[in-house]
Amino acid sequence: MNTTEIIELTQQYIMNTYTRFPVAFVRGEGCYLFDAEGKQYLDFVAGIAVNALGHSHPAIVESICEQAKKLIHTSNLFHIQSQSELAHLLCENSFADKVFFCNSGAEANEAAVKLARRYGKINKGEDCYEVITAEKSFHGRTLKMIAATGQERIKRGFEPLPQGFLHVPLNNLDALYQAISEKTCAIMLEPIQGEGGLHRSEKEYLLKVRELCDKHQILLIFDEIQCGMGRTGKLFAYEHSQIPPDILTLAKALGTGIPIGACLATDRAAQAFQPGDHGSTFGGNFLACQVAKTFLEILIRPNFLAEVVKNAKYLHGQLIQLKSQYELIQEIRGEGLMIGIELNIEAKTIVEKALQKGLIINCVQNNVLRLVPPLVVTKEQIDEAIQIMASLFQESLQGKIP
Ligand SMILES: *Cc1c(COP(=O)(O)O)cnc(C)c1O
Repeated sequence: MNTTEIIELTQQYIMNTYTRFPVAFVRGEGCYLFDAEGKQYLDFVAGIAVNALGHSHPAIVESICEQAKKLIHTSNLFHIQSQSELAHLLCENSFADKVFFCNSGAEANEAAVKLARRYGKINKGEDCYEVITAEKSFHGRTLKMIAATGQERIKRGFEPLPQGFLHVPLNNLDALYQAISEKTCAIMLEPIQGEGGLHRSEKEYLLKVRELCDKHQILLIFDEIQCGMGRTGKLFAYEHSQIPPDILTLAKALGTGIPIGACLATDRAAQAFQPGDHGSTFGGNFLACQVAKTFLEILIRPNFLAEVVKNAKYLHGQLIQLKSQYELIQEIRGEGLMIGIELNIEAKTIVEKALQKGLIINCVQNNVLRLVPPLVVTKEQIDEAIQIMASLFQESLQGKIP
């Protein structure tokens, strides 16, 4: 099929929930994708921070093939070795003691909020169920997670929404003091907001949040679905502030493209779940866990993240240089290979033009370009992306881009 035929088929049979670019990829290799007509694209979106090892990484391909030949799924009625091994590896390399596996980010957050509510009810009483989240946060698309998300446009038209969520402006302690009550069972934050525009939870703020949580027996949940798994140059983003949560959620990059989500917790929090309290049919199956384990083993190799940090520094440096050349760049934000470029114009046209020139980037909050390339991106590929972006900013300056 050519691109036009694929697009027609989509329009006829797929529910109209996404605004898609008129491009259909058929193959990927490393940081490059190829469309149905054979055109090559440099991928700086990586399936929205999912394809951390790029496309068709040999170790991931082998892991999938080998596991598929043995066993794909048995259900959680039985023990699953790779699930327990993956959990072991995640716990050994984090604050956590226990893990629950599911299939997506929203589901990981559902598990986190259910666990926090159980914990609150057991330890503080039936009325302890409220979760405080940040404005501009994004926590997923299930009914409960759109209630948790601090963005009106995501909730509109789906009321009545599940109760028990409050939003406060990020990094504002006074607002948080006012929101906390006897009803609060958890505070849920993204160390770095992805969809919200790459804003960071400040270290001083997180320090106070941690203190407040300890003082009032409130659980601190970090949503690291986007910023976790090496994305910021550390295995987990909370390592930058060294303030550990009680619960942490993962998905996106965890399976490098095979759907898997995880809810990590301390023993103290995890004890609130007993047999029958939560579950998932597919969650943590043989295939997904084996692939995630393969990825995590690569990620924790001694030099892997050092290389990510080195390339991320280089990319930041190049972007700072672009900012000094082009006034339309307001700010460069983010950490590691999770970068936001705030513009003083709408970012949509830049994204479309970039795609035409063979560079895949996307935008959040209308005016922020988001770069989340594969963690294996090279200096040469960064140069290629910078060159294309510079040419687009130049065209914009000359009025060729509105
Ligand atoms: C993508 C994302 C989610 C939702 O993940 P899904 O797998 O789409 O359900 C939740 N939180 C954050 C921070 C995300 O980036």
